[in-house]
Amino acid sequence: MIGKRILVTGGAGFLGSHLCERLLGQGHEILCVDNFFTGRRANVAHLLDHPRFELMRHDVTFPLYVEVDEIYNLACPASPIHYQFDPVQTTKTSVHGAINMLGLAKRTRAKIFQASTSEVYGDPSVHPQPESYWGNVNPIGPRSCYDEGKRCAETLFFDYFRQHKTRIKVARIFNTYGPRMHPNDGRVVSNFIVQALKGEPITIYGSGQQTRSFCYASDLIEGFIRLMDTDEAVTGPINLGNPGEFTMIQLAEMVIELTGSKSKLETRPLPADDPKQRRPDITQAQEKLGWQPTVPLREGLGKTIEYFDNLLKG
Ligand code: NAD
Ligand code: UDP
Repeated sequence: MIGKRILVTGGAGFLGSHLCERLLGQGHEILCVDNFFTGRRANVAHLLDHPRFELMRHDVTFPLYVEVDEIYNLACPASPIHYQFDPVQTTKTSVHGAINMLGLAKRTRAKIFQASTSEVYGDPSVHPQPESYWGNVNPIGPRSCYDEGKRCAETLFFDYFRQHKTRIKVARIFNTYGPRMHPNDGRVVSNFIVQALKGEPITIYGSGQQTRSFCYASDLIEGFIRLMDTDEAVTGPINLGNPGEFTMIQLAEMVIELTGSKSKLETRPLPADDPKQRRPDITQAQEKLGWQPTVPLREGLGKTIEYFDNLLKG
C-alpha cells in the first residue's frame, strides 16, 4: 500500500531523521514527533517544506491523539551521557512512552515498531548474541535506566501482542553510526571522529580492548523498513546490526588513518558496567528479512568523517 500515515517518534534524532527521509521518499505521509531532548530541528530542516511532512513538538511520556497506520517508536536518548543525564526521565520515556504509543496503536489498529537495543543483553556472557539470549543486566547501575527501560518496553510490546493482538515489530539495534549523529553525543564513533578532526587526544575508555559492532545508518534503516513490512507472524525481537567486531583501539586507529590526524590515544577510566564485548547474531534477520549490512566500517566511517568535517568547518 502506498501513502500510509506514519508516526515516527524521536523523528528529529539521528536515526529518526534518516527514517523520516526514507519513508517520505516511499510516498508516505510522515508525522515526526520529538521533544528535542537530543534531536534537533536541523536534522529535519530539509524536510519541513515537504507537503507530506509534519513536525510536532511532543513528549511521548504524555498521551498523543492522532490517526495513523504505522508507528515507529524511536523516542529515547541513546547515548550513555544523555540517557544518564536524567535517568528517571529516560525510564519514563521508555516505559510511559511505550504505554502511550501502544495505546495509540491499539486504538488506531496501527502496526507498531519498537527501537529496542543490544543493551537488553547487558554485559553478555554469550557471544555473539542471539535473540534467544536473556541477557546479563545490572538492574541498579547507571546504565539500568536505559537497559531496564528498554527491557520493560519489550515486555509491554509482547503483552499488548498477547493481550490485545496489537501488531508489533521489535528490533534490537546494535551500535549504529553515520551522518547527523550529534557532535557532542558522547558515543564512541562521533567522539573519535570529532577528536581526530580537531587534533585533540582520542579518549580510550579502559584498556580499549572492549569490542563493539558498528552498523551504518542506511543499512539499519533498510532493516527497519523490511521488518515493518513482514507479515503479522513476525514480531521479533530481531537483531539488527553489523556482525563486524572491532576493539575500540582498532576503531581509533582506523579513524586516525582515515582522517590523517596527528591525534594520540589517551586512556580514561572505563565507565561502570561498560559491556566487554558485543556482536549481533543476525541469522534471524537474514532468514526472515533477507537483510544484512552492505556498508563496511571503513566506507561508512569515510562518509561520517566527511559529514563531521563539513559540520565543524561550517
Ligand atoms: P537520538 O538521541 O539521536 O534520537 C532520539 C530522539 O528521541 C531524539 O530526537 C530525542 O530528542 C527524542 N526523544 C527523547 N526523549 C523523548 C521524549 N520523551 N519524547 C519525544 N521525543 C524524545 O538517538 P538515535 O541514535 O537516533 O536513537 C534512536 C532510537 O534507537 C532510540 O530509541 C535508541 O534507544 C535506539 N537505538 C539506537 C542505537 C544507536 O546505536 N544509534 C542503538 C540501539 C538502540
Ligand atoms: N568509548 C571510548 N571512548 C569514548 C567513548 C566511548 O573508548 O570517547 C567506549 C565505551 O567505553 C564503550 C564503547 O566505546 O566501550 C562504545 O561506547 P558508546 O557510548 O558509543 O556505546 P555503548 O557503550 O552504549 O555501546
